[in-house]
Amino acid sequence: MRDLREVGNVDKWLTGFAPFRNAIFAWKKWERRHEDWTHDHCWSCFACVCDHRDRFPDLKKAHEERGCYRHAYYAELEPGKYLWVCRTCFKRLKDEMNWTVASTED
Ligand SMILES: [Zn+2]
Ligand SMILES: [Zn+2]
Repeated sequence: MRDLREVGNVDKWLTGFAPFRNAIFAWKKWERRHEDWTHDHCWSCFACVCDHRDRFPDLKKAHEERGCYRHAYYAELEPGKYLWVCRTCFKRLKDEMNWTVASTED
């Protein structure tokens, strides 16, 4: 049985996700947008997308727990409306969401 809180989260998740149906993604290295920008999250699993492994090489355990991916799939619909998705979630969701990959960097 699901409680109401959980259903609310699912609605929020779907509403935020829906505009990104058919989106075109790029496999991209995460870069900070400005000096105070610390990290982003995979939209689906909330894994950390960041440069923590480079900046804090001693905190290996924390990186493994959080994900701390340096590369992830990135789509931007308009300035400020963007999505990071980790490789695992991208594979899982791409058919359902009709996602494609535009180009590869690096
Ligand atoms: Zn993910
Ligand atoms: Zn991180």
